[in-house]
Amino acid sequence: MSLQIFDTMTRRKTAFVPRTPGEISMYVCGPTVYDVPHLGHGRTALTYDVIRRYLEWSGYEVTMASNVTDIDDKIVARALREQRSEADVSAEFTVAYDQQMDRLGVLRAHSRPHATHFISQMIDVIAELLSLGAAYDVPGKGVYFAVDAAPRYGELAGRTIEQLTADAGARIDVDPDKRSPLDFALWKAAQPGEPRWETPWGQGRPGWHTECVAMSLSALGPGFDIHGGGDDLVFPHHQNECAQVTAMGEPFARYWVHSAMVNVGSQKMAKSLGNYTQLADAIDAAGARAVRLLVLQTHYRKTMEMGSGSLEAARSAVGRLDAFARRAAAAGISLEADAAARRPDLERGIVPDLDVEAVTAFTASMDDDFSTPTAIDVIFRLVRRANASLDGAAPVEASRSARTALHLLGVVGLSCGGDEGEDHLDGGLSDAEVDALLAQRAAARSARDFDTADRIRDDLAAGGIVVSDGPAGAAWHRG
Ligand SMILES: [Zn+2]
Repeated sequence: MSLQIFDTMTRRKTAFVPRTPGEISMYVCGPTVYDVPHLGHGRTALTYDVIRRYLEWSGYEVTMASNVTDIDDKIVARALREQRSEADVSAEFTVAYDQQMDRLGVLRAHSRPHATHFISQMIDVIAELLSLGAAYDVPGKGVYFAVDAAPRYGELAGRTIEQLTADAGARIDVDPDKRSPLDFALWKAAQPGEPRWETPWGQGRPGWHTECVAMSLSALGPGFDIHGGGDDLVFPHHQNECAQVTAMGEPFARYWVHSAMVNVGSQKMAKSLGNYTQLADAIDAAGARAVRLLVLQTHYRKTMEMGSGSLEAARSAVGRLDAFARRAAAAGISLEADAAARRPDLERGIVPDLDVEAVTAFTASMDDDFSTPTAIDVIFRLVRRANASLDGAAPVEASRSARTALHLLGVVGLSCGGDEGEDHLDGGLSDAEVDALLAQRAAARSARDFDTADRIRDDLAAGGIVVSDGPAGAAWHRG
């Protein structure tokens, strides 16, 4: 089956056909940098990171653009409150965002336009909309887009213009200068103390919905393949982007992909891990791989829980992966990851020592609108199978399952078995220290010094390390 993507515009899964065969252009709305990233930022970024990695593995040449909104009402408000410049606020929180994304292993977009670097392109868009009669200038307030000028306004949001007008009219803050309550600002006239740029219709700053039009079209050109972002952006942000481009008569995104929100409130608090809203705290507590795994365990279009309980469970699942990798390495199975690995050509039977059935199941899941929960199940099944093969002293089967599991983990940006620093979460024993203690214990056991062996085991247990003895030696995981 070829890749099927759920398109928000049509509200159904459709076969994905890129603008240019073999190439995929993808624009994902990035952060508005006025505060530190929260869990939702992490989920959104990981969702598109995994989609990108999968498409690249599948052989597509992916060009990804993701913006930084560095001028916005909230940035202006914070700068004013803290008596600093907008540039200073946005620079601080761009760094804060990047730091957490780097920890999560989110690949940087190929193009990362900052809104303030694209003012002239935004002015071009607004000038064209004005000349087409799709926008109007309200002196002292700004330039508004007239939604009447947009064919099929509301289609992306799944609402009619009448429904949306009724919703907007029900709110109390309808601006009397707007021709329709749905009209939105393309350009905001300068207010005292705010940053401003010169335009033919006076000084001011851009509206958010115009920023992403100018940046996505500049980065990827008309009719690019995928436009993504959190599903809170469908209306009004993406609907309003869409309205401008269709009013200009240009093709816009071929597919709209939206990732759902994160729920932090519905889970009970656990003592060891708090409930977090800041991404850094969740990574500090559970590790970056646990956060990534947890995101993958929920389909991207479903609201996910990210509380202490689910993070703890993901963290121990990562621990099981590491335990398995160590066990496989001890059994002499080479688990060197091939970073450039590509999807095996199953039809032509080109499968380098991998479990064909598992790779087929994995790709079928991912091709079905990026169904990562079932894809992750395939990987954990492989790990169980590899462990069973090691138990049964079947090294060839164990090696194939283990290598396939590692290969597929790499596709979704996960690794296992390495001492990656994040394992020192509690200030406890490092992997190397645990291995060294287990070696001492093995030596004690062979010398029939069971008191020493048991003491080491108890010490490890006190440090949260669970040891299990099998035919291939001792294995361990963090409890
Ligand atoms: Zn955007």
